[in-house]
Amino acid sequence: MHIVHGRAAGASAEARGGTFTGTVYGDPVLPSTDGTTVNSVTFTPGARTYWHHHERGQLLVVTAGSGWVCAHGEAPQPLTVGDLVWTAPGERHWHGAGPGTIMTHLAVSLGTTTWLDEVSAAEYGEAR
Ligand code: MN
Repeated sequence: MHIVHGRAAGASAEARGGTFTGTVYGDPVLPSTDGTTVNSVTFTPGARTYWHHHERGQLLVVTAGSGWVCAHGEAPQPLTVGDLVWTAPGERHWHGAGPGTIMTHLAVSLGTTTWLDEVSAAEYGEAR
């Protein structure tokens, strides 16, 4: 058993680059444990992930602000506080803030994450 009280003690928020567009911070909550990783991720306005998928799926819980999630081939869907998103294993998607809003979500990621292409401005612009 591994109990985490609030967040990993002493861990610093990490600026995320490379697989994100814009300014994004990840706050480690549970470092990878038995293939499960939990981060509280804050996206500033306009920031979003690259396209990606998760080996065994991912649960998102929106804890502040509002933003968008998009499954490949579908229209972006709006998210707000309290919303939950289950993304199935291997399902290509992105998630991020709105153009003028922040979004913080808890991300429970199962297995490895495979990162793909950047979400283009045109693709992001479909979120409205
Ligand atoms: Mn994801």
